[in-house]
Amino acid sequence: APAAAAAAPATDEPIQPAVEIKYTQLLINGNFVDAASGKTFPTLDPRTGDVIARVAEGDSEDINRAVAAARRAFDEGPWPRMTAYERCRVLLRFADLIERHAEEIAALETWDNGKTLAQSSGAEVPMLARCMRYYAGWADKIHGLVVPADGAHHVQVLHEPVGVAGQIIPWNFPLLMFAWKVGPALACGNAVVLKTAEQTPLSALYVASLLHEAGLPDGVLNVVSGFGPTAGAALCSHMGVDKLAFTGSTGTGQIVLELAARSNLKPVTLELGGKSPFIVMDDADVDQAVELAHHAVFFNQGQCCCAGSRTFVHERVYDEFVEKSKARAQKRVVGDPFRNGVEQGPQIDEEQFKKILRYVRSGVDSGATLVAGGDRAGNRGFYIQPTVFADAKDEMKIAKEEIFGPVQTILKFSGVEEVIRRANATQYGLAAGVFTRSLDAANTLSRALRAGTVWVNCYDVFDAGIPFGGYKMSGVGREKGIYALRNYLQTKAVVTPIRDAAW
Ligand code: ADP
Repeated sequence: APAAAAAAPATDEPIQPAVEIKYTQLLINGNFVDAASGKTFPTLDPRTGDVIARVAEGDSEDINRAVAAARRAFDEGPWPRMTAYERCRVLLRFADLIERHAEEIAALETWDNGKTLAQSSGAEVPMLARCMRYYAGWADKIHGLVVPADGAHHVQVLHEPVGVAGQIIPWNFPLLMFAWKVGPALACGNAVVLKTAEQTPLSALYVASLLHEAGLPDGVLNVVSGFGPTAGAALCSHMGVDKLAFTGSTGTGQIVLELAARSNLKPVTLELGGKSPFIVMDDADVDQAVELAHHAVFFNQGQCCCAGSRTFVHERVYDEFVEKSKARAQKRVVGDPFRNGVEQGPQIDEEQFKKILRYVRSGVDSGATLVAGGDRAGNRGFYIQPTVFADAKDEMKIAKEEIFGPVQTILKFSGVEEVIRRANATQYGLAAGVFTRSLDAANTLSRALRAGTVWVNCYDVFDAGIPFGGYKMSGVGREKGIYALRNYLQTKAVVTPIRDAAW
């Protein structure tokens, strides 16, 4: 039976967000337009399941229009031809506008997604602006090379924009995903067609309008709202798209890669799922470890590809850790994400909500000990109690599959070699956390763990300069930092004979 209920019932009247919905159409060639079919779809408030707004539903016809606009902007327009410093300044002005409109953007994000307003306004909007400034700084620092050749040849290597980038983003961090995709693509001089997630179309349309206000030429960024198998697949298959970047589930990533291969072999970067380990060694301060492990899994309602969702705890501190994790989860404040002090809002939609509850049942059925939560919170919307399982075994579904919800799975271990082996025994390799006071343990674990990020005594640190991406089935390539620039640049060798013997 479920243990004690979570803190807040989440049944209060929803707080009215302080923002009006300005943009619901597709953004193609600098104009907001209806879908070619005239169709719309509802985007829902996860607090209630009520419709926030109806949004134009793009499909393959709209992707064709958007790609045509991006092609023109790239092949004939000023964007790739203007000085890099001018592109830098557009991105800097965009960052200023983001800050000027920070409150509306944050409210929109919380309304459409359900994440807390404190998170939207305290982290995500500032990180969007920061990421844009970071890539603005790169725009005029993309250098080529001169290669010494064996013969009398002058060999230059030019880094040119790749062309039209198709970008598909998920619903869990709509603004950050916008930043990580659009920032490097534009800094390098590309044109973009962005397909947002059907659950969260609103904030990207709003910030894209600010980017035009900042001076972005028409057609350089096109935003198409719509569904994956229609709009998303059309973008992946399009012959006029030169590069694809995708963030989402591993299964969809496989489809994306296949569509790219079958059409024009466009290169693809993928940022996919995870089942990241968070390892607590026996020398750890247990209170601090509990807090960090809690944050690692429950942050953003557990809807993080890099969630530390397998909490491995050394046997010597295990019982104390489980007891304190239970207390911490039961203290977690669930409720209206617009309310001050709330730590956890609703899950994104009914599908995810039901899927998470199925995993919770599977945890109980497979014999894990349910120590906290285990049910929905309140009686409407998509709220779930912070849930903790102890005594989990590696082969249980809750310890193997990505739950993408507020469910912590605690596993016991007794030695470093054992925990390395078990932590790595997964198809995923996105991130890992290590909590220890021992420099040796930190060094050993951070080298042995097969993951794109290892956070030692911290978690979820996402500065714009830090590369992010997965080993194994967690992805292909890296986003952020200098590494993301490579995704958006072609490499051209220019070879000229040197005629004058005097060189
Ligand atoms: P989730 O299960 O978290 O919604 P998805 O991988 O399905 O993750 O979604 C991430 C993004 O991929 C969304 O923008 C979605 O619309 C898009 N998508 C889903 N299916 C496809 C597909 N077949 N082709 C291209 N994009 C897709």
